[in-house]
Amino acid sequence: MKLRTEFSLMASLLVIIVITGVSVMLFFSQRQMLLDEMRANQENIVKGFVRMGEESLIARNEIALVNYLKLIGKTEGVMYAMLIDMNDRILGHTDLSLLGNIYRDEVGERVKDAEGLLVQRHSDGKGNDVYEVSMPVFISGKKEAVVRIGFSCAVLDGKIERNLNKTRNRILIIAVISLVIGFIGSLIMAGMMIRPINRLSRAVEHIGKGELDYQIKVKQTDELGMLGREFNRMARRLKELDDMKKDFVSSVTHELRSPMTSIRMYIGLLFRGAGGKLSEKQAECLNVIKKSTNRLARFIDDLLDISKIESGKMTIRKESFNILDSVQEIIKLMQPQADSKEIELSVNAPDNLPKINADPERIGQIITNLLSNAIKFTQKNGKIKVDVADSAENLRISVIDNGAGIPKESIGKIFEKFEQVRSIRDTIPGQKGTGLGLPIVKSIVEAHRGKVRVESELDKGSTFIVTLPK
Ligand code: ADP
Repeated sequence: MKLRTEFSLMASLLVIIVITGVSVMLFFSQRQMLLDEMRANQENIVKGFVRMGEESLIARNEIALVNYLKLIGKTEGVMYAMLIDMNDRILGHTDLSLLGNIYRDEVGERVKDAEGLLVQRHSDGKGNDVYEVSMPVFISGKKEAVVRIGFSCAVLDGKIERNLNKTRNRILIIAVISLVIGFIGSLIMAGMMIRPINRLSRAVEHIGKGELDYQIKVKQTDELGMLGREFNRMARRLKELDDMKKDFVSSVTHELRSPMTSIRMYIGLLFRGAGGKLSEKQAECLNVIKKSTNRLARFIDDLLDISKIESGKMTIRKESFNILDSVQEIIKLMQPQADSKEIELSVNAPDNLPKINADPERIGQIITNLLSNAIKFTQKNGKIKVDVADSAENLRISVIDNGAGIPKESIGKIFEKFEQVRSIRDTIPGQKGTGLGLPIVKSIVEAHRGKVRVESELDKGSTFIVTLPK
C-alpha cells in the first residue's frame, strides 16, 4: 500500500474515532439535559401544586383547587394529580368523581413518610408505567396532606425519544459532513507530506545509479526541508569524494603507465638477446614476467579508459572502415586463446557489407572485450560466433557463445563498473578479470549513439548484441 493511502486511511480512521466519540458524548449529554429539564419541570409543577394545596387548606378554597387541578390535568404527560390528607381522604383530584374518597396504596404509604420531594416509578394496575412525583404539604410546621402527581412514562419517554431523534439526525449530518471534509483534508495533507518524501526517494534512486551531482529543490523550512538540505549536502560531499577518487585513480594509473611501458620494452629487449643469450629457465621466467606485465598493462589501460569515460575525455575519431576486416583481424589474434580451449570461432556476415563510419580502434576494443569474455566463459569444445547483420539504419554485431550464461538476477547489473557474477567467476580457470570490460563496451557504444544488450540463459550461453546507427 502506498504511503499516501496509508496516511489518508489512518487520518480518516482518526477522524471517524474522534467524530464517533464526540457524537456519542453529545448524544448522551443531550439526553441527560432533556431528562434534567423534564425533572425540573415536574418539580415546578409539584411545588406549585403544594403551594396551591397550602392556600386551599388554610382558606378552605376548594374552587381554586379544582381550577388548578383542571390546569394540571391538561399538562402533557400528567395522568393524575391529587391532594390527600394524612387519613388518605382525597381532598382534590383531577378526576372530580373521586373527591372525598379514601385512597390507599403502597406508594401512598411511602409518600406519607417522606419529608420532602419523592420520586417513584410504579405501575397503575392497567399496564401503564407511572412516574410519580410527590411532596408533603406543611401547615404551621405540621404535615397536613400530600400532593401526588403521576406522569405517564410512555408519554415522557416518547417526548424524550422524539427530541433525541432530532438530535441524532443533526449529529449524523454533522458527522458525515465532518467525515467527508476530514477525508478530503487528510488526502490533501497526505499529498503535501508525501511529495517531499517522493522527491527524496527519487533523489536516492539517482544517487544509487551513480548520478552524484543530483540535487533536490528544497523550499520548505520544516523537518522535511531540513532532511532535503542535508541530503543535498551529503550528495555534494559524495560527489567531492568520488571526484577525488577518480583523480587519484587517474593519476596513479598514469604514473604506472610509463614504468610499465619501460618494463615491457626491456622484456622485449631481453627476449631479443640484448642481455646475452637466455637459458631455457631464464626464458621461462621471463615469459611469466611478460604475461603478468601484460595483464597489469591491460588493467591499467582499462582503468585509464574508465577514468577518461567518467571525466568525459574519451575521444571518438570516426573514419570509414570495413567492420568485417576488423572482426577477422581480431579473431586471428584471439585464435590461439580459443584453440587452447578447443573452442570453435566463426564469423557470419552478409556479402558486400558496406563500410561504417566509426572509430575503428574503439570498435575493435568492443569486439575484443566481447570475444575475450566469450572465450573466458565458454567451456572446452564450445562454440563462439560473431554475427554481423546490416539494415537500412543499423549495423548489428552479435557475439554468440554457448558457454556458462548469466543468471537472470545479474543480467541487469553486468554493464556496471566492477560487476562480476561471483558464482561463475570462481569456477572459471585462469585470469578472473576486473569487471571493467563491459562498462567500457557500453560507454564506447553509447559514444557512437548505439545500444548494447545481452540475452542469456544460465548454462546455455549468452549473446551480446551491439547496434550501431549508420
Ligand atoms: P570481466 O570479464 O573482467 O569480469 P566484464 O565487465 O567484461 O568484466 O564482465 C562482467 C561480468 O559479466 C563477468 O565477470 C561475467 O560474470 C559476466 N559476463 C560477461 N560476458 C559473459 C559471457 N560471454 N558469458 C557469461 N558471463 C559473462
